[in-house]
Amino acid sequence: MSNTGLRVSIIGAGSAVFSMKIISDFCKVPSLSDSHIVLMDIDKTRVENVRVLAKELSQYFGAKLTFEIADTIKGAVEGSDFVINTAMAGGHGYLDLVRSIGEKHGYYRGIDAQNYNFVSDYLNLTNWNQMTLFLKIARTIEKYAPKAWYLQAANPVLEGTTLVSTQTGIKMVGFCHGHYGVEALAKFLGVSEYEWQVGGVNHGIWLTKFTTKEGKNLYEEIEKVSQRIKYEEFKPSNPFDDQLSPVAWEMYKTYGLFPVGDTVRNSTWKYHRNLETKIKWYGAPWGGADSEIGWKWYVDQLSQVVNVIDMFAKMLLSGVKINQLKTGTPIDDYLKEILSEKLSGEQHVPFIKSVVTKTPGRFVVNVLNYGKIKNLDNDVAVEICAKVCGEKFEFEENHIPERIVNWYLKPRILLAKQALDAFLSKDVKLIADILERDPRTKNSEQVEKLISELYPIVIKKAKEIEEQE
Ligand code: NAD
Repeated sequence: MSNTGLRVSIIGAGSAVFSMKIISDFCKVPSLSDSHIVLMDIDKTRVENVRVLAKELSQYFGAKLTFEIADTIKGAVEGSDFVINTAMAGGHGYLDLVRSIGEKHGYYRGIDAQNYNFVSDYLNLTNWNQMTLFLKIARTIEKYAPKAWYLQAANPVLEGTTLVSTQTGIKMVGFCHGHYGVEALAKFLGVSEYEWQVGGVNHGIWLTKFTTKEGKNLYEEIEKVSQRIKYEEFKPSNPFDDQLSPVAWEMYKTYGLFPVGDTVRNSTWKYHRNLETKIKWYGAPWGGADSEIGWKWYVDQLSQVVNVIDMFAKMLLSGVKINQLKTGTPIDDYLKEILSEKLSGEQHVPFIKSVVTKTPGRFVVNVLNYGKIKNLDNDVAVEICAKVCGEKFEFEENHIPERIVNWYLKPRILLAKQALDAFLSKDVKLIADILERDPRTKNSEQVEKLISELYPIVIKKAKEIEEQE
């Protein structure tokens, strides 16, 4: 693989969250700034808009990126060196639909569960369409680009990485940006220079190391603060601002390490039973990202990004240049992010750079365990710190207390395995069996009614993906 002429495909390239950040990062990394980027999405307008913006962005940064739109997964994957998957089969509309059917049958926020609670965009029981898409992309890579790396950005990262890595032989790594939660904690404690390490599973990572540069253990500070913190004073700035929420401190007190990033969303029903409970633990007015109010806020933000991209693309097509765009418009904030000289913080492009140019880099990666975290199954994806240089990974040793392994990670992993078993065998009875153990289930009739309304839709949507080219 050379550092010139690299072919990178992005599946789900119309993604509001990822595409422009990834392309902007490619522009800013000189060794990769002549890559050929292949954009693939079933939404032709969104992908075309991304292409228009991407081309302009490359010119703005003086990069030599080239772009192509592919109509099919095979067309995108064939000959690629890296395939980044940011697609969400069914989109936010599908999440809303399955959640509303769950709620109709007595399952607040829907049936999909993480660690005995619901995390909005992280479906593991009803997303047979998304799992089918992951496998389809992976099998296409196996056949048409067997040396390519598959980078998993789309959720669920734990189930997705486990599924693809156990069912195919391709090179794969899953990425999440949840570990940046450490920065909020450090800022709160007033430390600017520190060393950190996280470990666990995706959306279930714990701060396994936190020291000053001189080696002083910052858990001493965390412990002191935990004894005097006043939960009622917590005021989140947005629904995702939960790293210092009462839940995070309670989880620390219960489990012995600090939960990082999305882990705080992934607590238990104690914190999620209803909106009132969520507000108590995640702060007013939203009650965290996964409440009905918090999630609406997020989806509104995403659709604003899609609208801004659309407006932006139309202006560029009419001949306006990026540096002629007026300030004070909604495009401003979005522009600031993609035009900043700084990298976005997403790990995909720095990872590609480390692999291609053999420049060592430190990453938080999702890969199959095989002893990387002790006392956990081998055939499940864990999220841990690793140094990557070329295709070599050096995983950092970590110590996760038995309390977290037994009370948090093992139950979460068991559910992931059960969800994957049900998906691979397409056995709806297994889903019913999982629901019989759900604390929200009152009787078997409730389970049967839910299954008979929901699973014909789940199966139909998965079939549509099977038929996709
Ligand atoms: P989005 O709906 O804005 O974008 C997803 C894109 O996928 C859309 O353009 C859609 O048209 C496309 N798509 C849908 N089905 C497709 C198919 N069958 N083939 C090709 N393209 C298809 O969603 P988003 O909010 O950008 O989120 C994308 C994914 O990223 C979700 O799974 C979300 O949960 C996940 N996510 C991950 C992280 C992380 O750190 N790993 C963070 C945020 C979001």
